[in-house]
This record gives sequence, structure tokens and C-alpha cells, in this order.
Amino acid sequence: MEMLNLALFIVEAVAYFGLMVTLLHFRHRLGLGVFLTALGVMHFMETYLAAVFYVSLPFGDVSPGSSVFFSGKLMMILMLYLWEDAATVRQPIYGLFLGNLLTVAIAWVLQLHQPLQLASNHTPDVDFLKEMGWLMVWGTALLYVDSLGIILLYEKLGDYFRRRVVLRFMISGFVLLTFDQVGFFAALHYFLDVPIAVFWGGWKAKMLSVCLFGAMFAIYEYRIRRLGADAAARSISDVFGDLTFRERYNDLLERTGRDMLTGVYDRTRMELEAPLMLREALRQGLFATVLIIDADHFKDVNDGYGHLQGDEVLKAIAGRLGTTLRSNDRVFRFGGEEFVAVCPGTNHEEGLLLAERLRWTIATSVKTPDDRPVTVSIGVATADEDGVDFTTVLSAADRRLYAAKKSGRNCVVGHSGVVKLG
Ligand code: GH3
Ligand code: MG
Ligand code: MG
Repeated sequence: MEMLNLALFIVEAVAYFGLMVTLLHFRHRLGLGVFLTALGVMHFMETYLAAVFYVSLPFGDVSPGSSVFFSGKLMMILMLYLWEDAATVRQPIYGLFLGNLLTVAIAWVLQLHQPLQLASNHTPDVDFLKEMGWLMVWGTALLYVDSLGIILLYEKLGDYFRRRVVLRFMISGFVLLTFDQVGFFAALHYFLDVPIAVFWGGWKAKMLSVCLFGAMFAIYEYRIRRLGADAAARSISDVFGDLTFRERYNDLLERTGRDMLTGVYDRTRMELEAPLMLREALRQGLFATVLIIDADHFKDVNDGYGHLQGDEVLKAIAGRLGTTLRSNDRVFRFGGEEFVAVCPGTNHEEGLLLAERLRWTIATSVKTPDDRPVTVSIGVATADEDGVDFTTVLSAADRRLYAAKKSGRNCVVGHSGVVKLG
């Protein structure tokens, strides 16, 4: 008997996954609404089954409602996120949440009716309506947390093994369904007196489902989805297909907005990010210091050694900036031989020390082809004492850079003039 139940359980899982993935796969042809509606319709049955329908499996008494259909739905939400994006997956998450609350509200109104008795053995079960209400509210709240959780965890796992999509899929499923089992069982136990043994049975069944779904996901990922791409395009689509929308976006962002010559961020990027960095630091009650770094007599470098050698010197300067600044700091190429560094959480004194270290590092390590030192002048200004918006702070730093040039170059100027150390 238990073996028959197990076989039926597997058939249910395969059928559910197979059907839903088919709808998801053909979403561009059928319309995404078909998949979403099917997902929503199954939700009611699953809640109903989870409340009343239990079967014996070799490892305990379980409800296919929770272990196949609920687990399946959560994995479907994750898959929808993987193949579409956050904006799309929000729709079923919010839809299920609001739809369930509406169902519960309507169930309350329905209880006020005096229903007709059409046949003696068909009395409406008002108690069930009441229980379903609370169970639905709880299940819905959990589903909401589970859905966000499974997506966030999948993304987080990408930091450790980005290309192992099946592994990420399965770990996310194991963790979130364990969390869900604890939460949902607490409600079943409290409202419906479901015995503790059901907790473990249900948990094992959910884990079994994740294994089955994971295996089918792997088959789909590696055997079916990629057949579409022709052999030449496959290697590119493989890499791209593995990434979530957010990962693709971040990849693209990481590669755009870079200055071609020096590899530091470009001016457009500075205009977008520097104001945000300043605002964020101020919001946290921290200072943020801005440095403008300009190479001294750079025209002479170009004139003396040629433009290409000048370019090499610029690369060397950018390299020193990159290694001397800290991970929270950002360097942008502001103009020809001018760079801007934004250092959040750095007050004016610290900014001056940092600038002085930069100046010294460059003066002692960057050389022209015939071994003459290349130097820079640096202007330093700090938010909020020199202003709160980026443009104002940058102008203050620029005025100090000009002062540094007038004071003989190869020096740092802050709000009280040229910095002298030692
Ligand atoms: P100062 O000490 O007053 O800054 O003198 P400077 O010669 O550096 O003066 P200025 O800032 O006016 O000149 C900048 C020079 O940088 C002019 C331009 O030829 C050179 N330059 C700008 N962009 C590039 C570049 O991408 N590659 C090279 N090799 N040179 C560049
Ligand atoms: Mg210059
Ligand atoms: Mg200049």
C-alpha cells in the first residue's frame, strides 16, 4: 500500500512539474497568463489537500497537497524568476497573496448566509470554511516570505557557485521548504491538531519532492532547453542562460562605464554614482571626501616622449590610485589627465592623509621612460563641511587643486592650505 502511494506521489510530482514547465517553456507562444492562471488554480486545491488529505508513504503520513503541489509551486516561482525577472515574478507573488486574502474575506461573508439544504448528504461544511480561512491567511503569509526567501537565497548562492544552477536550485528548495514546513506545521498543529509525526513525514516528502524537481530541472536545463540554440551560438547562450536577470544586469554594469585607457570608471559613471555615494554617506551620518588628482606638467610628458608614452604614464597613475585607495573608495577618470576619487566614511583629516599617501606613492614610483619622476597635485574637499551635494564639494576640491598648482605642484591642498607632513 505504501509503495503504491509512493509511486502515485512520484507520478503526481512528475505530472505537476512536467505540465507547469511546459506552460512556462511555451510562455512566449501561449502567453504568460496561462502559466500564471494554472499556478493560481492549483493553489486552492493544494491548501484544501494540505488540510484534509493525507496518505501513508514508507517514511510517514504526508499530504500531497503540501509536499508535491506547494513545493512545486515554490519551485515554479523560482523558475519564473530565473527565466524572467523580478518584475514578472512579483505578479504571481502579489496575486496569490491578495487573491487569498480576498478568498478569506469572502469566506467570512459566506458564513453569514443561511444556505439551502439541497440534499441531505450535501451539507456545506461551515467549520471547514472557518478553518480554511485561517489556514489560508497563514499559508499565504508564509508563501509570501518563502517566495522572496527562495529568490534571495538563490541569488546569494550565486556568489559562491554561480554556474551550478541545479545545485543552487536544490539548496534553495531544501532550505526554504524546511523553513516552510516548520511554519506551516505549527499552524496545522494549532488549528487542526495534526500530530507531530506528520511534521517529519511532511518534511521528508518535501525534501523528496525537491530531489525529484531538481532532477527534472537538471534534465530540462541540460537536455531540452539548450537544444533550441544552434551549435554555434550555444556557448554564448549557455553562459547567458545560466545567469539571473540581476546577474546579467550587474555583469553588464560592471563592464560598461569604464574608461578604455585606464580601466577606472568613466565620467558618466561618476556623474551617476558620486552624488549617490555622498548622499548615502551623509544619510548614515558619515563624512565623504572627494579628491581631484591632476598630473603635473603632463603636456611636457606628451611633448617629450610622445602621446603613447603619455598614455602609459596615465595607466601607471590609475594603477597606483587603484591599489592605494580602499575597497569602498571609487576612482573615476574625470578628464584627460585628471582623476576624481570619492571616499565615503572619510573625514577631511583622513582624506588629506590618503591624498598625501597617493601623492607620495606616485612621485616615488611612476616614472617617465627616461626615469624622471611623474608627480601629481591633489585638491581635497569633504562633505558636509564643504557642501552637501557632489557638485559643490567637487568645485571646492577643484579650487584647491588650482591652489596646489599655484603653490608649486606635487602637493596636496585641503581646507587650510598646503598639507605638510613630518
Ligand atoms: P599642470 O601641471 O598645470 O596640470 O600642467 P599640464 O601640462 O598637465 O596641463 P594641462 O592639465 O592643461 O594639460 C593636460 C594635458 O594632458 C594636455 C593633453 O595633451 C594631455 N592629455 C589629455 N588626455 C590625454 C590622454 O588620454 N593621453 C595622453 N597621452 N595625454 C593626454
Ligand atoms: Mg595637468
Ligand atoms: Mg589637467
